[in-house]
Amino acid sequence: MLRSSDSERIREGICPRCGGPAPGAGLCAACRAADFSWLCCDPRVTITVCPSCGARREAGVWADFSASRDELTREAARRGLHVSPEVRDVSVELVIHERTVNRSFADCRVRGRLFGEPVEENCQVEILWVKEQCSRCSRMAGSYYEGIVQVRGEGRKPRPAEIRAAEQIARNIEEGLYSSGERLSFISEIEETRDGLDIIVGSQRAGKEIASAIVERLGGHVSTHPKLVGEKAGKRVYRITYAVRLSPYSRGDIVLVRGKYGEIMSGHGKEIRYRDLAENVQRKTTERQVERIVGNIADSSEYLVTFRQGRMIGLLDPATGQSTESPFPPGMDVQAGSKVRVIHDGDRLILLGTA
Ligand SMILES: [Zn+2]
Ligand SMILES: [Zn+2]
Repeated sequence: MLRSSDSERIREGICPRCGGPAPGAGLCAACRAADFSWLCCDPRVTITVCPSCGARREAGVWADFSASRDELTREAARRGLHVSPEVRDVSVELVIHERTVNRSFADCRVRGRLFGEPVEENCQVEILWVKEQCSRCSRMAGSYYEGIVQVRGEGRKPRPAEIRAAEQIARNIEEGLYSSGERLSFISEIEETRDGLDIIVGSQRAGKEIASAIVERLGGHVSTHPKLVGEKAGKRVYRITYAVRLSPYSRGDIVLVRGKYGEIMSGHGKEIRYRDLAENVQRKTTERQVERIVGNIADSSEYLVTFRQGRMIGLLDPATGQSTESPFPPGMDVQAGSKVRVIHDGDRLILLGTA
């Protein structure tokens, strides 16, 4: 034990600067730490924000954020501090002074351990707030667009309910894209035209997603028509028209298919799904098999069931007081006294279901 501690003392030298104990012939840890330049402080950092929407540009990319001005200032000040990796247990204290709306100052106190010795440095970082309109806001302000979703009916005008639904679908898609960071996928305008609805979009992705979502919900099909509008940085620039053609039949239409009545459930592309009203089962058909539209479930009226006998019921027309007998489809729960929905096809009564 004694020998070993003796030999350690022999290896230990004297620090040439402070005279304290030092390993070998060099400076002691405290003097090395004092000589070591371990903190580099940027005199100025900038924060670029959009005055219209508040987005921030970070490494050339605009993004929305929820941080407060104070949090942003602190984050920017920290970015201006560069601490040598030799320093351990780094802690930073910041005192922020707001000079003007465009300038803040951060007094920074940085502490850590270097070569086992505690170290501390102070510096000041100026934070410049730069206002610049973001890509989304400047495109929106400049009415920039990359596509138009045109919602039309096939051989008819879209119904008001379809127009409202299409608009709602478009807004939901825009919101979804925006919150997933697709800032350029905005809707610059929604315009109701004589023939339907025009949705003008800032990106082709938005156009594509809106068009397919509308068809998914309302039925019909989409065709795309690109148009060359010029060249930008050697690349051809296209604007795309997404022509949505809503199915000639919409949900709730009562149609005649091969001599039998049906209620349209949905139509995708050329395929139509409907409920066979006599059998009360779902079937598929094509547009070409539909002979004609009789009406829409929205035009139906309520009839009172006067009696039920086997598969026959009596129906009382509320307008005329006239009574009619009609078979009712399987699976339909009708009792005397209950009400059912009925639509007329000329003299014929079509039973749609319970009211
Ligand atoms: Zn020393
Ligand atoms: Zn903006």
